[in-house]
Amino acid sequence: MLSPHYTTREILKDIYILESIENYLEANDFDILFKEISYYLKNEKIIFIFNFHYNNESQDNEVFKTQYLPYDDLESIYQSLIEVKNIFLKRKKCNHSFIREVISEGESKGETHPLGHGVCSICGYKKKNVFSPLKNKRLVKGLFDEYITKQDWSEDTPLQCGKSGIVIGKEKSYRTAFFEAFPEVSGLVTFIRGEGNTIQEAESACFKKYEKMLNCKEHDFSRVYKNKERLDGTAICTKCNLFSTEALPPLTRCVVSNEITKNKINNEYITFKSYFDRDIETNFNNYKKYQNEMLSNLNIQESDEEIKEDYFYFHFEYYLFKKLSENNSEEILYNLKSKTTIHRIFGFIEKFIIKEIFELNENEFPNHEDIKIKILSEYLGENLNFILDYYNKNGYIDPKEIFSKDLIKKLKEI
Ligand SMILES: [Zn+2]
Ligand SMILES: [Zn+2]
Repeated sequence: MLSPHYTTREILKDIYILESIENYLEANDFDILFKEISYYLKNEKIIFIFNFHYNNESQDNEVFKTQYLPYDDLESIYQSLIEVKNIFLKRKKCNHSFIREVISEGESKGETHPLGHGVCSICGYKKKNVFSPLKNKRLVKGLFDEYITKQDWSEDTPLQCGKSGIVIGKEKSYRTAFFEAFPEVSGLVTFIRGEGNTIQEAESACFKKYEKMLNCKEHDFSRVYKNKERLDGTAICTKCNLFSTEALPPLTRCVVSNEITKNKINNEYITFKSYFDRDIETNFNNYKKYQNEMLSNLNIQESDEEIKEDYFYFHFEYYLFKKLSENNSEEILYNLKSKTTIHRIFGFIEKFIIKEIFELNENEFPNHEDIKIKILSEYLGENLNFILDYYNKNGYIDPKEIFSKDLIKKLKEI
């Protein structure tokens, strides 16, 4: 009997049940049916994943998930495995007859799946893209269910919704259904939110605001937003409430050169040129000062490892952008810095750098290895176009394809 409290490692060590199940599957010819059977542990339950394939010629696969308490008796586990096997045997023999899938849960329950997914009326097999998608209908995934839009949103407008969002207010907090859209209006990307008793009500409220913006003949932008004058270009139309951080040209000026700039580094407006002309110590001290203010406002004390982490990230970004500033305009640098792309790319290579180059464990950071950080950042800066292309094409970065063996060797030897 397994204890109800154990870690993944313990359950894998206590492999008796898993081995028994594997033996059972093998003895009962489950391998003709399943391409892959894997399992993991979640909330003290074993989750089995059966990756089932219908026939060898087609690419059709179906993933079936089922879960057991590891201390359930084996007989009942075998029993349910036989049930799964029978379902899949039936599906394997079935000449599927697809009908459009309908949404099974939530506010849109019973409505037709707009993406054209099919479900076999005989055996229940679900398959993607069997039918042509429904026009003017968008499927929006909420946290717990799916919602089908009722309004005519354009296809490329990002949408999100939920049936019970929490709004934290100064006077009182409340729960509400919400619908949020990020459409482009008059060339400006904006954010619109609607609330209501149901998602449909919230969507309708959101769409009304959107229509008002689309129908606004001539926007009248005001820099006063929430009773505060904003000089960075953020403005709101007094007629239709269209809000954008890029609505008007900025009026903010560089603290060093007095040129107009909307670039903000560590809470001061400064052009990249002025920033990199200034010595790195001043910049780092400004960064620490700004950060310490924020941390003390939040009553947070940094650990030694977090201080090293800060040092690492500051220098990494500093050398990267300094390298990029050699060949790029203020505008390009500003856009690179404001978009999350570079941070995402860094997310893909960070662990690799820490492990392979600094030879540290996860969650550890190097201590003042400025030269190595500088070489790495400059290398990334020099090859950024290649890296961005790679990322845009594949949606991820494989660090091994970016850093050559020679470069890693050279860095290790420093
Ligand atoms: Zn079927
Ligand atoms: Zn307007």
